[in-house]
Amino acid sequence: MHMRAHGNSSIRAMAAKNPKGALEKFEYVPEPLGPYDVEVSIEACGVCHSDVHLIDNDWGISTYPLVPGHEIVGYVHEKGGMVRDLKIGQRVGIGWQRASCLHCEHCNQGDENLCASSQATCVGHFGGFASEIRLDSRFAFPIPEKLASENAAPLLCGGITVFAPLLRDVKPSMKVGVIGVGGLGHLAIQFAKAFGCEVTAFSHSPDKEKEARQFGASRFISSNDTSAMKSVAGSLDYILATASADLDWMAYLNILKPRGKLCFVGAVPAPIQIPALALIGGRKSVSGSNIGSRTEIMQMLEFAARHGIVAKTETLPMADANKAIEKVRKNEARYRMVLKNPEAHSH
Ligand SMILES: [Zn+2]
Ligand SMILES: [Zn+2]
Repeated sequence: MHMRAHGNSSIRAMAAKNPKGALEKFEYVPEPLGPYDVEVSIEACGVCHSDVHLIDNDWGISTYPLVPGHEIVGYVHEKGGMVRDLKIGQRVGIGWQRASCLHCEHCNQGDENLCASSQATCVGHFGGFASEIRLDSRFAFPIPEKLASENAAPLLCGGITVFAPLLRDVKPSMKVGVIGVGGLGHLAIQFAKAFGCEVTAFSHSPDKEKEARQFGASRFISSNDTSAMKSVAGSLDYILATASADLDWMAYLNILKPRGKLCFVGAVPAPIQIPALALIGGRKSVSGSNIGSRTEIMQMLEFAARHGIVAKTETLPMADANKAIEKVRKNEARYRMVLKNPEAHSH
């Protein structure tokens, strides 16, 4: 039974008090509920690699105490007077973005994720490793009934990150490569397969072949095997790079057909070095993509429910957040860690 009274009593959370610090119990009093805000009682929250980067302040944008968590599923617990489309008790999901200006050129074009005033769920705000969260209701998305909360949570960041570029760039006739079979990659393979594409998975871990094929890959290439990499030269229309390691990008450009595109969604550490001629010759391109718009998130959730696309998850109680973070740090999650609040309920 959820015990927090309505109003402004404090929210229980897990926070890092300083860079690279372990998460500790932390309580905070939320901002007053605005007219368009909702308070969501959190049932499940996925652990994304970005949460580890934020805890460690790898991007220099973190503020402490830092409550991570931006793959949230929970129930609307309170709502402001202007919230018309969400009901008390309704299950919703929240991802990386918690607000945008909603009136700039990009917001008006339905690209809220490109808004200069975009606010991140756990940068300068307290995130989803908590009992509740308050945010703009226009960034809380109804979760289709078919999806279990722990499998849906990772779709809110990991899922949309791979779905949005595929939706924009890929046609059913295409042959698509996915680099990395991890939190993002295992979802990208499922989406690309459901789009009708022929999918090739690339991984440096040969032990992931069986599962990559179960997710929908029809071909698996061990990225350490240079002759296997050469054998597929010129065979793919599109490659989505989901890994966060520095790889031999020239080898992947060689695998693209003329007019092919290599799209980055993983934040690889080193600058990407590519000779211009490698792009000029086959009119190839390199691009990037960040999360997705509100419309794309809603399309993604509906598409995932329709095609039975779910994140493969391991769950732990919220109190074990440090254990989950450790597994993500060591790349041991298969394929996404999800923290659960056992007491969350639909009202
Ligand atoms: Zn994320
Ligand atoms: Zn805007």
